[in-house]
Amino acid sequence: MTAKILVSACLMGHAVRYDGASKPLSHPAIDRWREEGRLVTICPEISAGMPVPRPPAEIEHGQVGADVLSGKARVVERTGRDVTDEFVQAAENALALALDTGCRFALLIDGSPSCGSGFIYDGRFSGARHPGMGVTAALLRQNGIEVYSDSEIELLAAKAG
Ligand code: SF4
Repeated sequence: MTAKILVSACLMGHAVRYDGASKPLSHPAIDRWREEGRLVTICPEISAGMPVPRPPAEIEHGQVGADVLSGKARVVERTGRDVTDEFVQAAENALALALDTGCRFALLIDGSPSCGSGFIYDGRFSGARHPGMGVTAALLRQNGIEVYSDSEIELLAAKAG
């Protein structure tokens, strides 16, 4: 199988996180996928015009990405600024790129209000996690893209080849 894999830019070492850092992931499968030309890198939030650095943002009231997509929840920065529209645009940009480039899989960093797929933070900026997906991960899954977190790279390697 040679399906392409959409990947979070911060996992690829791009310094695009809210705090200006990256979270590079090192794994033989990533090296191989890169050599095979199968990685499609995006930072959804940057693609929607968000700056680096930027205030941290969370989905309000313990809700999840699907709630944002259905208009039932907001994404807010710690400053209180509503960034829901930017996060929805970010997810739409990621989905469009995945579909345009033939990605069947995505490898996204966990915990992010965009890219999280196993857990996100609960909206109180207290560091408390809860199970759920961010906005981009939710939209990708709703459209048939198989999303794996960085801690699931072995599973992805077994599935994607
Ligand atoms: Fe990384 Fe995704 Fe956040 Fe961009 S939106 S910095 S790719 S976790």
